[in-house]
Amino acid sequence: MGNGFDFSVERLGRTGVLSERLKRRQAEAREREGQAISETSNETQGPCGNAAGGVAEEEGLASRLAGLKPGTYMGQPLDGELKANGEYIGVDAGVRSFYLETFGCQMNDHDSEKVAGVLLARGYAQVERPEDAGVILYNTCSIREKAAQKVFSRLGEYKLTKKEGQVIGVLGCLAQQEGEEIFERAPWVSLVCGSASYRKLPEMIAELEAGNRRITGLDNDTDETFETPVTRRDNPWRAYITIIEGCDKACSYCVVPFTRGPERSRASASVLEEGRQLAALGYTEVQLLGQTVNSYADPSARKMRFSDLLVATAETAGMRRVRFTTSHPRDFGVDIVQAIEAYPAICNHVHLPVQSGSTELLAKMARTYTREEYLEKIGMLQGAKREISITTDIIVGFPGETEKDFEETLTLLDAAQYDAVFAFKYSPRPNTPSLTMEDAIPEEEKSRRLGVLLARQREIQIARNAKLVGRTFEVMVEGRSRRENQFMGHTSCNRILNFTSPEQEVLGHYRQVRVTSSSPNSLAGEVE
Ligand code: SAM
Ligand code: SF4
Repeated sequence: MGNGFDFSVERLGRTGVLSERLKRRQAEAREREGQAISETSNETQGPCGNAAGGVAEEEGLASRLAGLKPGTYMGQPLDGELKANGEYIGVDAGVRSFYLETFGCQMNDHDSEKVAGVLLARGYAQVERPEDAGVILYNTCSIREKAAQKVFSRLGEYKLTKKEGQVIGVLGCLAQQEGEEIFERAPWVSLVCGSASYRKLPEMIAELEAGNRRITGLDNDTDETFETPVTRRDNPWRAYITIIEGCDKACSYCVVPFTRGPERSRASASVLEEGRQLAALGYTEVQLLGQTVNSYADPSARKMRFSDLLVATAETAGMRRVRFTTSHPRDFGVDIVQAIEAYPAICNHVHLPVQSGSTELLAKMARTYTREEYLEKIGMLQGAKREISITTDIIVGFPGETEKDFEETLTLLDAAQYDAVFAFKYSPRPNTPSLTMEDAIPEEEKSRRLGVLLARQREIQIARNAKLVGRTFEVMVEGRSRRENQFMGHTSCNRILNFTSPEQEVLGHYRQVRVTSSSPNSLAGEVE
């Protein structure tokens, strides 16, 4: 059931290179398990690789980049040429080239932007097809077993087309998790590199070119990843800023503390400087990123709290929207709600993963809060002076989840009134404490529970979105349909709003849109 809008093809990336990637990711998103209430291809941007993120348009990009000073990018000198279409021609372009494919969450998307920046700044050219590349890099996810399987099946495809001398590298979470074992399972891979070592990639590739057979970069406790000299942004209007890396929370089912290492926060001055540079380049929306973004602890003498950082970013001249994800319930305080209330530029959307509605199960998951404590935070958000949209992540079928536990998750949906839920079947992961827990839930039962949960949430979303018909929202226009005069964008509260407009040059601009109809996952309307 759609709403008459069609954005399935024209979600273009910054250049042809990214268009290809987005097309592939759309296909993956359609296949992927666990996506909540996904009735159209206009999925909301969620955690853990739920949907394609950036929506941009090449024409808009050309005008956006037109004002850039040649020879610099993000204020850094480059040794090649940055063309108006976003393509960077390095000094050795044509000799050294890379193809980069990304699978996973927004953190992975942003890591890939940094990887591309690092290589472009060192004279590599980015190409659109793996067969044209000297180096193929695959940035991976291992959060669930299916994601990990997908990586190996894709690596199998690369094997079939691999040319003499071509380097195939695995980056990201699966690289960190499997380490050198990847060489055993896929001997045609010669580079394995975790997210903390990306700055060293040019040197690692050079070693391979010099005759080394295999190389790994698997340190995971440095903060080097924050400060890549060049970040090649995929979206001309919305940019990511990493403020905290890794995770110290140790939820019993999760590989992230292992694959991304311990929690490291970035100095507030550095975060704010990146925000200013982005605003100077014309970005009006930024998203502060971290696995537990609100656990941010400023390592500098300023000791800014997360909410202070949000406010300071929102006060940056030219900044119109500040998003943040993902928040951990334990560290979610009233100061964040107050910041959202006081600063319209801070988007009124909070992604607050609950995982389960049962206190017993939350304890087994080591989530560090009870159902009641979580619902207190929800109460805080629901009682805010400004309406705040809440979304969440849920795992069904965790070991030992009883019917009663599951029922409590269903009643929590009713209480929390989420605007979107990303629900996943529990997937046992290597190196995690839950791997050895008893009372595994059979796959069919996990699927049944997932279906019941999604059906309940769908009803909630139908009712909540229907209440928005007749209201007007500000939308940042991000995509154009193949159909004439049809566009799409996000509201501050992160709803997708498809709309008609007689005006053609609206991409990247903000427009007031009146909602005329709704569906479980999106709204439709007309520009005012
Ligand atoms: N840091 C965030 C938090 O505290 O909720 C979440 C990050 S995790 C990368 C994203 C989501 O993946 C989690 O919220 C959880 O719902 C899901 N997830 C993580 N490990 C999983 C597993 N082993 N099986 C199923 N889902 C999992
Ligand atoms: Fe994983 Fe828990 Fe850390 Fe989120 S808070 S990344 S779920 S360990």
